[in-house]
Parts: sequence; structure tokens; C-alpha cells
Amino acid sequence: EEINKIGWNLENSYSTLPKTFFAPIQPNPVQSPKLIILNESLAESLGLNPSGLKSEEGIAAFAGNQFPEGAASLAQAYAGHQFGHFARLGDGRALLIGEQITPQGNRVDIQLKGSGRTPYSRGGDGRAALGPMLREYIISEAMHALGIPTTRSLAVVTTGESVIRETELSGAIVTRVAASHLRVGTFEYAAQFGTFDDLKALADYAIKRHYPEVEENEDRYLNLFKELIKRQASLIAKWQLVGFIHGVMNTDNMTISGETIDYGPCAFMDTYDTATVFSSIDVQGRYAFGNQPSIGGWNLARFAESILPLLHEDQEKAVEIAQEAISDFGKLFYINWFSGMRAKLGFFNGEDEDESLIEDLLQLMNKHRADYTNTFRALTFDKTEELKLFSVPEFMKWHEKWQTRLSRQAESKADSKELMKKNNPAVIPRNHRVEDALKAAVENDDYSVMEKLLNVLSDPYAHTPEQDKYTDLPPESDRPYRTFCGT
Ligand code: AMP
Ligand code: MG
Ligand code: MG
Repeated sequence: EEINKIGWNLENSYSTLPKTFFAPIQPNPVQSPKLIILNESLAESLGLNPSGLKSEEGIAAFAGNQFPEGAASLAQAYAGHQFGHFARLGDGRALLIGEQITPQGNRVDIQLKGSGRTPYSRGGDGRAALGPMLREYIISEAMHALGIPTTRSLAVVTTGESVIRETELSGAIVTRVAASHLRVGTFEYAAQFGTFDDLKALADYAIKRHYPEVEENEDRYLNLFKELIKRQASLIAKWQLVGFIHGVMNTDNMTISGETIDYGPCAFMDTYDTATVFSSIDVQGRYAFGNQPSIGGWNLARFAESILPLLHEDQEKAVEIAQEAISDFGKLFYINWFSGMRAKLGFFNGEDEDESLIEDLLQLMNKHRADYTNTFRALTFDKTEELKLFSVPEFMKWHEKWQTRLSRQAESKADSKELMKKNNPAVIPRNHRVEDALKAAVENDDYSVMEKLLNVLSDPYAHTPEQDKYTDLPPESDRPYRTFCGT
């Protein structure tokens, strides 16, 4: 009865896949779970009752101590190319408790991350620390509010147990909600370690779940690939437009649904520089800001290789088919990015000159070390006094050209401003702000800093006075900012 009150409505379609794709997992209870944060609006949209989720029984589910009715928990198998090298992986510290069927009839994975060891844990402890789980919560919710497809965060609980990293940290579990957790790496796993039938079952499952529009199609596997290319081109363009650096674009961190996943070492760029890298382990800059589109293409090529047997009986023909499809990725990315950039500059139509206008602005930002987000914000509100870029003669020339370009279109300047407001966020989860929120939470048990931050990030295009307070840059002493994964 209590369970019904919470509203769990779980199915387990993933467990109908061949057994090679998962391992069943028993509850692995933690000492004393405590609810740290609950995403009430997300809960409601999933048909879950927030007060039920806050009850002992609700919290027990978030902790993995007691699975809700209908749950059939499992860890998923997958592989992946990590920094270019193939590895056999799988959920080493996560488990899928099931798929919640929402009141709108959507199917979403409910996954606990930090829930203990699994057969895929290798040397790891299967656990996670509070700081990184809260970081995932903040940034994934910020991404969602920015209008970027992403996994979401339903709750974070602490476990009452410590995890040992360089120091002893509080253990925590985040409940992640995703369209699914199918990855490019799941297909690589099927291709390397499964049979032809396994691969086919996976592809059919992915189509049914994410691309039902191609199901009846004769070339459905090719169309699955083409649609995936479209979604990833659109997704990565959205990242580039807000200055998001994923940081660990391994193929196991690229979803088939087209959602952003894995908020380990990610961070937002402040100074515009395509070479920006935050992740401490990315010493080569493989996943630098400017490399993200080409890495997206590289990852999609790994997907194509995995499904070659489904594309054609003759593998040479299959390669040709795959190559032709993937050759569209760069173009599709650019179309998405370019139209986004036009909107950021207030253009409703297209002109030949736009390409150079955009390129020149980015180069000026780079040359004069201008903040990416704040430059667009200042352009939107004509806040010339706020940026040192506005005293640069070269920039003034650019500004004049831009103004002339705006006056050539039918729409008014006021219309342009409205368009720009919708495409240039007032706030992003700036690294120093996220760090401040985490420090207060983890070190002082003070969640007020995080709550305020989540609040301003929840509607980043609102441009409220409260949000203006969050546009400050990090002190010089905070740079270069470094992120770490695997904690
Ligand atoms: P990531 O770098 O977050 O994409 O993780 C790569 C792989 O390492 C995944 O298979 C994770 O499940 C696994 N992993 C990360 N941290 C741990 C941990 N503490 N214990 C076990 N497996 C882990
Ligand atoms: Mg990952
Ligand atoms: Mg990770």
C-alpha cells in the first residue's frame, strides 16, 4: 500500500534482452541512508509522489536497501573506447532498478549510481562520494534547464558509510533518470562478445525504444545509424553553443538516445578558447572543447563498425554504406551549430556574411580572453560597460558591422533582443560557483548555497536580477580549473 502511494510503475524491458547484456543484482544495503536532495518536479513528472519518496520506504529504494515492487535490478554490460583504447566495461557501480512508465506513457530508466559492487566492478569499490554525486545533480539539472537533452537526477542520498579515495569521504548514491542507458559501447560489446543474434536483438531493442519511426523500414539498421547521427550532431552542437565541455567522451559515455550522460569531469568554459580542457586525466587534450564535434564523429564510426553485420551481408558493401552515412555528420553538426549561433546573435534569416561575422567574433573573444557566456549576454543587453572587449577598436568595428547586419533584416532590434535572450543564458553552472556549493554541502552540511544555485540555474534564460549575481568570473587564483573523474 505504501509502495502504491509512492507511485512506482516499473517495467523491465531491458531484461528481455539476451543474458549476455546484464547481470542480475541483489540489494546491497547501506548502513544509514539519508535523503540529501529530492527533485520534486521531476518526481511528479514521473508519476512519483514526493512525500512518499521522502518516507523511509522511498529512501530505502534510493539507497538500494529495498527495491520497490516491480523492480528487477541488474547491472548492464557494455564495452567502450576509453581515450581511444578498447575496454570491456559494464556498470561497475550502478544498477538499473527498472523502467518507470510515466503518466504520459514514457519509459525511463531508473538507475542507482554508487550502489555497490557488481560483476563488472573490476578493481573498483562500486561506491561514489557525495561531492561528485551532487555535482552530477547540479550540472545535469542545469543542462536540462538549458534545453539540452540529458539524463536527469531524481535524488541523492548519503549512505552513512565512507568511501576511501585520497581521503575518507562520505558515500552517496545518485538516482539517475534516463531515456535509456544504451550506449555506443553497448553495441561495441555486442559486436565483440556477442553473437550476430545478440547484436540484432540489441539493435531491434534500441529501435523500438528510441527510433520507432524506422521500425517498419526495410533499411532499419542503416536508418537507426542515420537517426543516431542526427541526434548526436544536434546534441554536440548544443554543447558547443553553451560552452559545455563533456571531458570524457569515451564511447561508453555516448548514448543511443541522444542524451548527455556521465557528468564526471565535465565543466563549462569561461574564457573562449577551443583548446580548453578541464579534466586532469586528459593530458593530450583529446576531449578539448574544439575537438568535441570530431570526437563525436569518431565515436559514431565505432558504432558503425559494430553494426556492420546488420548493414549488409557483404562486409565491404557494409563499410561503403556506413561511410556514406557518416560523411553527413560534420555537415549536420555545422548546420545545427550555425543556426544556433545565428540565433545567439539575433539573426532571423541567413546572409552570406554571417559565417565570417560569427568567426570574427569568436576570434576576438579568443584573442582578448573574453568570457564566452558573458560576451553573448552583454551583446544581448547592450551592456557595453561590463566587458573590456568593448574598449577594443577591432571589436568596435565588429560591433558596427553586426548592428548594420541586424538593421538589414525585417525584424526589429527588440525582436532580435528577445531571440537573443532565449539563446544566450544568463547563467551557467560556473565552476567556482559549483565548487562553492559543494564545499558548503560536503564540508559544512550547509545545502543553502546549492539550493540557491539550483534555483538560478533552473531557468537560465530568465535574466533576473538574482541571476546577475551569478555571472562573476572565478578569481585568478582558481585557474586553471581542474576536474577529476572516478570519485
Ligand atoms: P566512467 O569514467 O565514469 O565512464 O566509468 C568508466 C567505468 O568505470 C564504468 O564501467 C564504471 O562503472 C566504472 N567505475 C567507475 N568508478 C567505479 C567504482 N568506484 N567502482 C567500480 N567501477 C567503477
Ligand atoms: Mg561513464
Ligand atoms: Mg563517470
